[in-house]
Amino acid sequence: MTSSALTPRQQSWTIIQITDTHLMDQEDLDFVSINPEQTFKAVIQDIMEQYPEADAIIHTGDLAQVPVVSTYERYINFMETLNVPFYQIPGNHDNAECFPFYDHKDEIHTIQLGKWSICLMNSAVKGKVDGWVEQAQLEQLNQILQDNQDQSIVLACHHHPFEMKSRWIDNHKLKNTEQLTDILGQHNNIKAVLFGHVHQDSLHKWNGIPFLSTPSTCVQFKPLSEKFALDEQAPGYRVMHLHENGRFETQVHRISGLIQKINGEISGY
Ligand SMILES: [Zn+2]
Repeated sequence: MTSSALTPRQQSWTIIQITDTHLMDQEDLDFVSINPEQTFKAVIQDIMEQYPEADAIIHTGDLAQVPVVSTYERYINFMETLNVPFYQIPGNHDNAECFPFYDHKDEIHTIQLGKWSICLMNSAVKGKVDGWVEQAQLEQLNQILQDNQDQSIVLACHHHPFEMKSRWIDNHKLKNTEQLTDILGQHNNIKAVLFGHVHQDSLHKWNGIPFLSTPSTCVQFKPLSEKFALDEQAPGYRVMHLHENGRFETQVHRISGLIQKINGEISGY
């Protein structure tokens, strides 16, 4: 008998975060002078080449720039061809009324991957660019953290909980971060917080917890900018390798070879 039969190899899971696809209602239309459909599909192609074994793809919001049923249907139809489970949380540009699979938008949705749980939380508020997490969801999150103390938990939402030191972006941050951190601080099973909205890669540690933002699959925003400004960095995504022992590794990938033609005259988002 070999020892491997008695001690099975430690398991790990791979999740991919994509965010801020800003898809138009027609696939040939541009957004800020790039075609979001094209860059989104280039990102997905890279994911499928590099991580064909991915356990889930999580979209952290602003799926649509034109938030109508046909935009969401086109996204769903495309994602279904990948044969990877996929999930999405609404962003400020999305329309919760026609957002896919989100009938209970004020409830946390949990994805279970062995010893890991991914909690998808809605931070979008109708008619607003900035974010807020409703009390009912905060209570639910507290309960999930309480009831799953032997699980490792990743929390994902759309808005950035901490300032990015970029004045215009920080006007649009999550506005009740303290209520969220009050809960997170009471538990030690939360391993990371993922979000989008800021169209850039960043890491901020709070209480030992990494808070990670991820590049958009389309245009990037210039880090540390006082005013709205675009960045010439390439579109990208994040990969998280989650290990059974509660540790994880993460990495941002960018798509090289896409010509970024940024319109410097665009003055608002
Ligand atoms: Zn956003």
